[in-house]
Amino acid sequence: MTAQLLDGRALAGRIEESLRAEVETFAGMFRRRPRLVVVLVGDMAASGSYVKSKAAAAERVGIDAEVIRVPAETDTAALVALVRGIARDAHGPADGILVQLPLPKHVDTVAVLDAVPPDRDVDGFHPENAGLLSQGRPRFIPCTAAGVQRMLIDADVPTAGRHAVIVGRSDIVGKPLALLLASKSPTIGGLRGQGGDATVTLCHSRSENLADHTRRADILVAAVGRPNLITADMVKPGAVVIDVGINRIEQDGKSRLVGDVDFEAVREVAGWISPVPGGVGPLTVVMLLANTLLAAELRGK
Ligand code: NAD
Repeated sequence: MTAQLLDGRALAGRIEESLRAEVETFAGMFRRRPRLVVVLVGDMAASGSYVKSKAAAAERVGIDAEVIRVPAETDTAALVALVRGIARDAHGPADGILVQLPLPKHVDTVAVLDAVPPDRDVDGFHPENAGLLSQGRPRFIPCTAAGVQRMLIDADVPTAGRHAVIVGRSDIVGKPLALLLASKSPTIGGLRGQGGDATVTLCHSRSENLADHTRRADILVAAVGRPNLITADMVKPGAVVIDVGINRIEQDGKSRLVGDVDFEAVREVAGWISPVPGGVGPLTVVMLLANTLLAAELRGK
């Protein structure tokens, strides 16, 4: 049996369409468009291309996006000052503020992220937003985690009572996703009780016998950043496999993107599988737009 494809690109397109209509309603009501300000530090190619696709998607749904580029040498104090300035609307109204990660090694990332006011924190990384999520009353949910949950809901994958195994415990992906999938009867997009109530196992670099955990998963999410970490023998037949990983590899003299899952082999075992690219990536972007619109709505005016 070959797994059905979880087509993140198609789903993101559908979500974009409904967001475009919601943005129009907002613009009609408040005589302005929601606005996202992105800080891009240095010239790392991957970060630059993520920022470009975020700005392009914002434009497609009618959200204004401004990218502020600063040199890689910029220090922590200057970045904190820049973010505080943006938060005072010194660069125009900023409903959402996003600092593209990773920051250069000499920068204190936590200090910079903490400078983003929680009510404009569209990445959902501020401790206040992380706390609200952990208490089951989320405001801004980290975009990738929200995208994975949305993917499961859209494919009608039942989560209640199912065993979800997440590999990777980062604050950005694994940890918030564990909270989301374990949350009690969440209401997402007006649908009550979907995308939550799972029994969650959170695996990480110190987990012993990783395959023993993954083989028990009805829903398996890989969010590590290691090509081919998840092989076919680690997957229960019929399981839903979601690949968050993004890795650039050289193959046959060409550079290409792959996830953490051995896609060709695992698709013969799994019931559903998300590809890389075209899986979780586009959903991450569209969830950022949803968070930006939410930030604008919360701010009003
Ligand atoms: P991270 O480096 O912060 O975290 C990696 C996690 O993997 C850690 O919790 C670590 O404990 C765990 N880990 C490392 N080696 C392991 C092993 N051998 N077995 C089990 N667990 C192991 O990374 P992150 O920011 O969470 O990102 C993870 C991956 O997802 C990366 O490839 C990143 O590029 C990708 N990503 C994709 C999107 C998207 O939109 N698709 C968004 C964010 C991150």
